[in-house]
Amino acid sequence: MNPDWKRLLRPRLASLRGYQPILPIEVLSQGSEAAAQAIIKLDGNENPYGCSPRVRQALAAYPYFHLYPDSHYLRVRQALEEYVGLSQEHIVVGSGSDELIDLVCRLFIDPGDRVIVCEPTFGMYRFYVEVAGGEVVSIPLGEGFAVDGRAVRAALDGRTKVVFLVSPNNPTGNLVAEEEILRLVGTGVIVVVDEAYYEFSGHTVAPWVPQYTNLIVLRTFSKWAGLAGLRIGYGIFPQPIVGAMEKVKPPYNVNAAAQVAAVESLADREYLEATIRAILEERGHLFHKLEGLSFIRPLPSQANFILCWVEGGWAAHLHQELRKRGIYVRYFDTPRLADYLRISVGRPQDTDALVAALQELEASYGR
Ligand SMILES: *Cc1c(COP(=O)(O)O)cnc(C)c1O
Repeated sequence: MNPDWKRLLRPRLASLRGYQPILPIEVLSQGSEAAAQAIIKLDGNENPYGCSPRVRQALAAYPYFHLYPDSHYLRVRQALEEYVGLSQEHIVVGSGSDELIDLVCRLFIDPGDRVIVCEPTFGMYRFYVEVAGGEVVSIPLGEGFAVDGRAVRAALDGRTKVVFLVSPNNPTGNLVAEEEILRLVGTGVIVVVDEAYYEFSGHTVAPWVPQYTNLIVLRTFSKWAGLAGLRIGYGIFPQPIVGAMEKVKPPYNVNAAAQVAAVESLADREYLEATIRAILEERGHLFHKLEGLSFIRPLPSQANFILCWVEGGWAAHLHQELRKRGIYVRYFDTPRLADYLRISVGRPQDTDALVAALQELEASYGR
């Protein structure tokens, strides 16, 4: 073995920070089913009610796992045509919308190219841009975590290829103003609007895609449809970019199980919409309960999570204390978010357990 293998690494990867993923349920529960049942998992923005029961049935009955999957995911795209309201010629499917972020970077980013992200936001844009050798230009979110459109436009230069926007944004939960999106699209740069939480916000710019050559909308089945573990997302692209994406994508990027699950999910919208309604109702309850605590201030959210400001530099500590009680929420170890926790909306019993733990901790702080 070459002891100097590190010299062979691409130099720019040496400083790559990597993405900090959450721990899987199998690790948190150490493989115990009873322990898994007791865990209150509010750190991944997953659907706590799980996937449609029809997904399980369809997977059990699927006869073709020994054959390669459809590399054009025709059935998924046909089902999405009706759901999205646009022709399937605009749709690309990926192994999670994460993969579509990667493919967009592969398509547009050469070493030295610049990509704008408005931070704090989802970490995968930075990750994939850096892996591709691009330069991330971070524009801080402004007052109320709003996108600073003026600053974004001022940062555009000849080397800027892509701007990533997230609406509603993760982890802040707020929408990007439609007029900001339009203004950016008007500059000609590729504008990606990540709508991973569309089903919770009800706001989308997808119907605009066919009118432009540089607007892309990304969506996922991970959050609303309860398919995070199966990895399937999709993008709504201008038609010419679909052809280009097909050239850079791996031929069998979306596995057969994920395709079956997505089609069944779209066929069982009634069930999934009921879980979305339950989550939205619970978001209101949780927000109200959090507002009642003296040391926490929840921010309004259009998604299935609530970002909370925590008083007195306690956020990291609170995160640990909740963990000890089997309650997992998300803490981000970055300067701008050091005093915040992101809490996914769970079931009513999850809210009760979380709030009871927070009240107990509040008392222990002498409040
Ligand atoms: C969760 C999330 C995704 C990832 O979705 P996958 O389809 O599971 O890869 C993408 N974007 C944002 C903003 C997210 O929060």
